[in-house]
Amino acid sequence: MARRERDRRYASTARGKLVRKANHFKERFPGLEPEWLRERITECIGIPCKYCHVELNLENCSADHKVSVKHGGGNEQNNFQLICKKCNRGKGDFDDRFFVLLLDLAERYKERENLLKRLAMATMVFGRRF
Ligand SMILES: [Zn+2]
Repeated sequence: MARRERDRRYASTARGKLVRKANHFKERFPGLEPEWLRERITECIGIPCKYCHVELNLENCSADHKVSVKHGGGNEQNNFQLICKKCNRGKGDFDDRFFVLLLDLAERYKERENLLKRLAMATMVFGRRF
């Protein structure tokens, strides 16, 4: 079998998808080991997103800086968290603590979903700056 075909088949396996995802996350967290990232991804599958409670899977999970780079957060393990892509877009360069407070406030006014949707849209319009 040609190497390209073998690579393509491997990429479509569960293991191949996991490896690709971890390598992708490593671009955002260069200091973290791919093996450590693969373990975190495996652990997060099936658990709810911290912010919107949607169940995380290999497709919708994304790597987030708890404390954003803008606010001095680094690429170390204790600043790493897995959340859903939608919330990651919405969170942008906000800090975790601020984002939690913002969502709690929105929840009180029954605007949580609306806020997440608007923030995610704003990130798409203004671009990723985080
Ligand atoms: Zn979420």
